[in-house]
Amino acid sequence: MNRVKNFNAGPAALPLPALERARDEFLDFAKSGMCVMEHSHRGKEYEAVHDEAIALLRELLGVPDTYDVLFVQGGASQLFAQLPMNLVEKGRSADYVVTGAWGEKALSEAKAATAMLGASVRVAGTTGTGEGKEKSYVRAATAKDLQLAPDAAYVHVTSNETIHGVEYDVTPARPFPDTGKVPLVADMSSDFLWKPLDVSRFGVIYAGAQKNIGPSGVVVLIVRKDLVAAGRKDIPKIFQLRTPAENKSLYNTPPTFGIYMVRNVLAWLKGLGGLPAMEKRNRDKAAKLYGVIDANASFYRCPVEKESRSVMNVVFRLPSEADEERFVKEAKAQGMVGLKGHRSVGGIRVSAYNAVEPAWIDALCEFMQAFAKRG
Ligand code: PMP
Repeated sequence: MNRVKNFNAGPAALPLPALERARDEFLDFAKSGMCVMEHSHRGKEYEAVHDEAIALLRELLGVPDTYDVLFVQGGASQLFAQLPMNLVEKGRSADYVVTGAWGEKALSEAKAATAMLGASVRVAGTTGTGEGKEKSYVRAATAKDLQLAPDAAYVHVTSNETIHGVEYDVTPARPFPDTGKVPLVADMSSDFLWKPLDVSRFGVIYAGAQKNIGPSGVVVLIVRKDLVAAGRKDIPKIFQLRTPAENKSLYNTPPTFGIYMVRNVLAWLKGLGGLPAMEKRNRDKAAKLYGVIDANASFYRCPVEKESRSVMNVVFRLPSEADEERFVKEAKAQGMVGLKGHRSVGGIRVSAYNAVEPAWIDALCEFMQAFAKRG
C-alpha cells in the first residue's frame, strides 16, 4: 500500500486509524452480519453510532445543554440559504461580514433566500479590495471594519476562508467580532475542531464534514435552542431547523455511512488527547510552514497578513506561475498531492487539517527549502 501525503482542501485526508476501523468493520458491523450502510437508520446498531457521534461532539467541544447538535445534508452551501430562511423574520435583516470567497457565496445565497421571504441581509463589513480578477482578501475583519446593526437577526462570519487562507481567532489581534446581544453565526467548514472553542459565544456554528470531521454529505450544526424555537414556520418542514432538532436528526434518512465515519474520526481525535492536543499539533505544523515561507522571502510570498494567517489552509505564491506549476509537479513526484491553489486565485495552498500528519509537513518543508534553494 502506497498512501500519499494528502494536502487536499476538501474532501481531504482522513485519519488512517479511522479508515482502518471502517475497513475492519466494513462487512460485519458489530457482529450484525452486515455493513453499517445496510442497517436501518431506525435500528439499534445504527442508532448507537449516531448517538455516539453526537455525544463525542458534545464532549470534545463542551457544548452547553442550551444548544442542539444536529446532522443535516446539502453541504454547507445549503446552509447558506437555509439559515437565513429560518432565522430572519419578515421585515428584519441579518448582517454579513465578508472576508473571502465563501463569505461572498454565503451572502449571495442569503440575499436570494431572504428576498423570497420578505426579509433582507446587509453587508456589515468586508476586507475585500479590488474588483473582478484583482479582488483580494488578505485579512480577517477588526472592529474598525464593521458597522453592525444593533437590531440585526444575526451576524454571519466565515471563520476560515478556505481559498484565501484567512482565519479568525488564530492570534489575539483578530478575534471573532463582538456582536453584543446579536447572535454570531459562523461557517466553520474548514476550521471546525482544530482547537478548543467557547461554543457559548455563538448562536450557530455550522461545518461541512469533508475537511476536519469526515466525508462529504454530512454537515454538523450546533445551534442555540432558543434560536431553533423562534425559527420561521412559514418555510417547508424539511428546511426548518426544528425538524432535525425535534427528531434527533432522524426525521428522514440521514447519511448513515457518513455519520459512521464522523464517529470514527471523533473517536480518533479523542484518543489523541482531544482539542487541546489537536491545537498544539496544528499550531506546530502551521508554524513550520510559515517559518519556511518567511525564511525564504525572496522566493515564497504569503499574501495574508500575519495576524490572520490560517492554520488550516496555508496559501503562498512563487516568483512565477511556471515555478508554481513545477513546484506542484515535483512535489507530486515525491508523493505529496493536493498542493495547487484554488483555480480562482492560483498559487499554492497547503491544507493542513487535523488528519495531516506532522511528518508530512516536515517532508513538505524539506522539499520547500530545497526547491527555493534550487530556484
Ligand atoms: N464554506 C467553506 C468555508 C468552505 O470551505 C466550503 C467548501 N470548500 C463551503 C462552505 C461549501 O461546502 P459544501 O461544498 O459542503 O457545500
